[in-house]
Amino acid sequence: MTNDYFTGLKCIHCGKIFNSTEDLLLCPECGNLLDPQYDYEQLKTDWSGLGIEHRPNNIWRFKELLPIVDFDQIVTLGEGGAPLLDFPVLAKELGVAKLYILNDAGQPTGSLKDRSIAVTATKAKEFGYRVLSCDSTGNKAASTAGYAARAGLESVVFCPHATPAPKIAQAVFYGAHLVRVMGHYSQINSMYREMVASHKYHWYDCGTDNPYRYEGKKTYAYEIVQGLGWKTPTYVLQPAAGGMSVVKAWKGFNEFKRMGLVDDLPAMVACQAANCGPIVDAIDAGFDYVPGIEKGNTIASAIAVSNPALLGNETLQTVVESSGCGVKVTDEDLLSTWERLGKVGVFCEPSSAIAVASAYQMAKQGKLKSTDVLVAVVTGSGFKDTETLNKYINVPEDAVDGKEEFYRKLDEISKSLQS
Ligand SMILES: [Zn+2]
Repeated sequence: MTNDYFTGLKCIHCGKIFNSTEDLLLCPECGNLLDPQYDYEQLKTDWSGLGIEHRPNNIWRFKELLPIVDFDQIVTLGEGGAPLLDFPVLAKELGVAKLYILNDAGQPTGSLKDRSIAVTATKAKEFGYRVLSCDSTGNKAASTAGYAARAGLESVVFCPHATPAPKIAQAVFYGAHLVRVMGHYSQINSMYREMVASHKYHWYDCGTDNPYRYEGKKTYAYEIVQGLGWKTPTYVLQPAAGGMSVVKAWKGFNEFKRMGLVDDLPAMVACQAANCGPIVDAIDAGFDYVPGIEKGNTIASAIAVSNPALLGNETLQTVVESSGCGVKVTDEDLLSTWERLGKVGVFCEPSSAIAVASAYQMAKQGKLKSTDVLVAVVTGSGFKDTETLNKYINVPEDAVDGKEEFYRKLDEISKSLQS
């Protein structure tokens, strides 16, 4: 079955239109980003008859709004359909009406990347590739390897040497050919881009500039709207590495508005680490583009991108257009929010606590109102970064030996629980 609603790709800079079946990354005319286009008028007419509410709760529930030509080739591990839960205790601390967390920690490979890599793997099948490749701070590598395995394809992934061990081990477990590179992500990214542009290897790029991949992240908007009873929140807070989740969620909300499914649009918030926040720096400085910066050290390794290039520019424009803002969070504040999340039942990697940490930052800055409804996106499982977990969480070393010690220990705990 073909997707007649996906009509082609449009360059965001020169406006040139390309056919929906073309295997393109950047615009061949001007080198800028390409944006998939859809027949929204037809979708608006047909929407209620599609019966989306009867489909499985994953990203393919909204398959007509994804840039897929052939529905029969969909590669899926059941990604999307994340829980959107409200946390009244945290909302009270923030002084807002509601705080919802959309939690992607339970995605098939443990992070948000599955939303977009599922789409890229599907495109690779459509285009007839045998190998998927990407550069990554870790999560994208694991996801690419997982979806390649699912699709019966090979994968080649490039990661910084210092990538958290579980992410690398996970990619290799799925069968990836791993290339560990000395240096930080932005350095590897520039080598990777050069490799892709050279067309030396016939590998399908699941990396930074793939226009199809990004579209998977629109499903954030669809799931948030659906989870809130076909309403939009006041703010949507997302971690921003290159920031494409922010851009694409914004596109998703706009699509639903255009199709008459929602009345309002949220303000988009890009959340970055204090030591590596080029997008937020550029927003605050009133720039219309994002200059690269020197990379500083941060515990938020998954989103530490010092030169987000074209994606960063798009993110900046989205934040401004949506009347949102950028927020930077120190490692100290990030760690304390991360630990706070554990105490309300959310187990995530430290980087992905940054959206909730940013909500606290906004509260501190007096930016939030008591009527505000916030959705913060948590992007990766706590199992993704066990080194940080072991470093900051004090796990008792001692073990009881024999019945006497056993009950002495229980008495001790029982006493501490009464105080
Ligand atoms: Zn162009």
